[in-house]
Amino acid sequence: MEYLATLNPPQLEAVKKTEGPVMIIAGAGSGKTRVLTYRIAHLIHEKKVDAFQILSLTFTNKAASEMKQRIEKLIGLEARNTWMGTFHSVFAKILRVEAQKLGYPSNFTIYDSDDSKSLIRSIVKEMKLDDKVYKANTVLSRISGAKNRLIGWQAYLNDPYITADDEAAMKPKMGEIYKAYQSRLFRSSAMDFDDLLFNTNILFRDHPDVLNKYQQRFRYVMVDEFQDTNLSQYLITKKLAAVHQNICVVGDDAQSIYAFRGADIQNILNFEKDYPDLLVVKLEQNYRSTKNIVETANSIIAKNKSQLKKNVWTQNDSGDLIELMKASSDNEEGRMVAATIFEEKNNKQLSNSDFAILYRTNSQSRSMEEALRKSGIAYRIIGGLSFYQRKEIKDLMGYFRFVVNHEDEEAFKRIINYPKRGIGNTSVEKLMVGAYEHDISLWKVLNNSQSFISGRGANAVTDFCTMINSFKMEVERKDAFEAATFIAKQSGLLRDLYEDKTIEGLNRYENVQELLNAIKEYVDNPENEDKSLGAFLQEIALLTDEDQNKNNQDTVTMMTIHSSKGLEFKYVFVVGMEEDLFPSQMMMQSREDLEEERRLFYVATTRAMEKLYFSYALTRYRYGRLLNCEPSRFLEEIDPTFIKVNKKLSSKLSSSFRESEGKQGFVGLKKKPAIRNTTTKLHDPGPNFKPSNTNNLKEGMKVEHPKFGFGKVHGIETEGTNRKAHIHFDHFGDKTLLLSFAKLRIV
Ligand code: ATP
Ligand code: MG
Repeated sequence: MEYLATLNPPQLEAVKKTEGPVMIIAGAGSGKTRVLTYRIAHLIHEKKVDAFQILSLTFTNKAASEMKQRIEKLIGLEARNTWMGTFHSVFAKILRVEAQKLGYPSNFTIYDSDDSKSLIRSIVKEMKLDDKVYKANTVLSRISGAKNRLIGWQAYLNDPYITADDEAAMKPKMGEIYKAYQSRLFRSSAMDFDDLLFNTNILFRDHPDVLNKYQQRFRYVMVDEFQDTNLSQYLITKKLAAVHQNICVVGDDAQSIYAFRGADIQNILNFEKDYPDLLVVKLEQNYRSTKNIVETANSIIAKNKSQLKKNVWTQNDSGDLIELMKASSDNEEGRMVAATIFEEKNNKQLSNSDFAILYRTNSQSRSMEEALRKSGIAYRIIGGLSFYQRKEIKDLMGYFRFVVNHEDEEAFKRIINYPKRGIGNTSVEKLMVGAYEHDISLWKVLNNSQSFISGRGANAVTDFCTMINSFKMEVERKDAFEAATFIAKQSGLLRDLYEDKTIEGLNRYENVQELLNAIKEYVDNPENEDKSLGAFLQEIALLTDEDQNKNNQDTVTMMTIHSSKGLEFKYVFVVGMEEDLFPSQMMMQSREDLEEERRLFYVATTRAMEKLYFSYALTRYRYGRLLNCEPSRFLEEIDPTFIKVNKKLSSKLSSSFRESEGKQGFVGLKKKPAIRNTTTKLHDPGPNFKPSNTNNLKEGMKVEHPKFGFGKVHGIETEGTNRKAHIHFDHFGDKTLLLSFAKLRIV
């Protein structure tokens, strides 16, 4: 086959060895993912394996769909029939089918971490525990840690030290919370993310016939990013591959960055023990990056004591030196990055999508965003507060969830009195407590509400049930889009948002419309066979942060280093290279933690193909205070022969920004920081403010807005019956306003 000619000898060996266990442990950019792709193509095309019998587990769903497209290019449409996705999405599908064996209905809800935390808060409150000791976040991460190691609540209750948690003694009620949490999830017919894997393990353990069915179905199992699997995931793959032993895992111990979530590097070492016939393949040639980048990455990871020895090299050109940028403040850092992107783009004819900005924590995106926006560079942020975490979206999704699963308690709490229907918190609590105390289902209680609460509240609950029943009929008869639109309207949610004429209200209304658009898209996509609302919900519940890139606009990508795993970009900026930020303050307590941070730095560095920038700021706002920062120790660890300090840019920027910023001035090290958007006061329009007729509003006009103050119109856009104005406000930056609602005075 001609495609095999594009592989080097060890890659070829791994592709051709389709039978028996194979492990590829190799450095970044050496073609591990490529080998998996070609291997699947080879299995289908040459070995005539049925595509349905191949299961591949990837880090994101997006990675899976990209891999599918590549295989399709190599061998055609048959590629679509392989099973591919994240552990969570693949096993959620399987659990839907097998749920009854575990006592769950097949329409179970998947709780996201907000739902889980809200449930934990209720439990902590009901148990009358101190919510400062039992913080929802901490409790959830302990439960999660236990589940990832397959420790159920029973074992945890018996031995609180089972997870080797040093602080167990300070939280004596953890086991009981864990128990209550599981029982409430079960009552709500809900599973959290970790349950998807935990329950798959239970399913395979207790139902050998089911296990056997999937062992036969998946004759070939592949796992990408194997270094970041946890015990729960490891055991699932081990069980699935136990009969045929055709398992191929690829990974890089130097890129293991999820120990904090229970990922266990030991899985690599165990693998050799579990499969004595194992073929271990090493790939050492890097195809992704320039020599300077590869050498820099090597010099970084060499500082780690615990690692498997690898010699990564490349035939690529040396390329440019790594550029180090020093900024006086985080805002200036943003401007330097934006200016560099602007310049490089023009000089080298690059697209926005050739650039990525990587940071340690999501909150760092703000100063970058501001700078890119001001320079007119389109960007998108992966992760952060994503679309599906917004309140209005969660509210409407709450309706969808409750219609599909009438026991979903978290969804119930969201929607029972929103929009307001006169059912107060006390009534809601009485209803829920009624369900536990009588051990009957929530839905049953709601249908007999007069026994639990009195008067008007009970009538309102009866009306609510009638409404939910009518929604259910709609969901059963119509596709997801029609049903969703019906629910959005009839629930009163759309009207409630529509009536809120503030800018925020408008945004929320538009977001809900956007959700309906997304559902329409889902229904119209021929790849989705099941067009029901339930199927759509499942799809959304399993989106990872990294997947949320819907439209293919040409944008700069911004994300945390954790999210960037497996990806590559021509130009990469690693920003915020400061002590306490990266390495993170929380990760300096032990050698293990610090080494994990260093691996994170290695991952960041190895995303770059052509050019790499590191930047740091001397002052930065954190926790609401202006802090002085020191350059990261990681910068000092790099072999200096690969680095060049960009002084020119720094000074050039300072002077030009001094001019353009007028009174505000250049943010010097010891000077007062610039005023931030977040602290800017809303404009006071004065008592005589009168909005103008905006029918003739044109680009270039100056306007006054009652909240945002003065600004200039950048453009007018007409979309259907909506006219929108893009306005740059002096103090609030760019906003897009709907002219039928916005109050604007033409100045
Ligand atoms: P990471 O550890 O970051 O996940 P990886 O080992 O999975 O990296 P790939 O993403 O598979 O590496 O490959 C890195 C780049 O090198 C890709 O652009 C890929 O197409 C290219 N590449 C890999 N092998 C070859 C080869 N034999 N010939 C040409 N290009 C190759
Ligand atoms: Mg890869």
